[in-house]
Amino acid sequence: NTISGKKFHIQWFPGHMTKAKRMMEANLKLVDVVVELLDARIPRSSANPMLQQLIGAKQKIVVLNKTDMADPERTQAWLSYFKKNSFTALEVDCQKGKGVKALVSAIQKAGEPTLEKWRKKGVRNRSIRVMIVGIPNVGKSTLINRLLGKNKAAAQNKPGVTRGPQWVILGKGLELLDTPGVLWPKFDNPETGFCLAVTGAIREEVFDQETAVHILVQRLLKLYPQELSASYRIELAPEDTVETVEEKIARARGCLKAGGVLDMNKTIQMILRDFKTGKLGSFTLEAPPREEA
Ligand code: GDP
Repeated sequence: NTISGKKFHIQWFPGHMTKAKRMMEANLKLVDVVVELLDARIPRSSANPMLQQLIGAKQKIVVLNKTDMADPERTQAWLSYFKKNSFTALEVDCQKGKGVKALVSAIQKAGEPTLEKWRKKGVRNRSIRVMIVGIPNVGKSTLINRLLGKNKAAAQNKPGVTRGPQWVILGKGLELLDTPGVLWPKFDNPETGFCLAVTGAIREEVFDQETAVHILVQRLLKLYPQELSASYRIELAPEDTVETVEEKIARARGCLKAGGVLDMNKTIQMILRDFKTGKLGSFTLEAPPREEA
């Protein structure tokens, strides 16, 4: 059993997360629409189930990011799943800016009921306010920069007030909080710890690299064997194990120590890096929950 769960049962809730949580809770009170950014490679593990409770009845839009590194078929499956569960859901690639325009339209649409409520009360000049939330490294800052683009005009920065939320105008009647809400990843099981580790959501010091890569290779052998074999130019055989596959990769890549011994340490790090950067292929590690029969 290569999944030694213990290594992922870590107590991990650093001080800066506590502060981030408090700040996010305060900021959430100020907005009408919440954009929850998820990593398309791990839509389940990159979500924080507590968010729903925190945002209450506010409008939420689910956005799958890093779709350039995810399996397109699974991205569609996840989008259908979210839509079936009554969420507005979209896919983006913040690095290239794909899907960002559609997101602005979706935010505008999500804010419409709020605007309507105000109109009925005679309030006509209020803007819809939105904030981006997500776990570390999911692409929040990249998305905010994309959304800003040329619209860098700041709204309501009262002179003399240096602290407090800063709003930027995204479009007509639409304001964005310029600091994202940092959600703490939820380690509900070893599986989540593994997913967060290999996608770069948690720092490398807090998990065992070797274990993570063993699980990753095991997973890729099951889900994407052809892609794995093509990427590393290795032949897979039915009797292969995680260990023999890792050795084949080491050999194919010439990861050798003095005396021609395979350098497995270097191989482990290379596989992890190749996966994290999407160089290995477009892989999604989690499928949406299966529908009830
Ligand atoms: P934050 O911590 O949530 O604010 O995340 P950042 O915006 O700093 O992004 C973390 C890393 O992910 C950076 O290296 C980004 O360049 C990268 N990134 C963000 N969006 C994408 C994307 O859609 N595709 C890819 N490949 N990388 C992305």
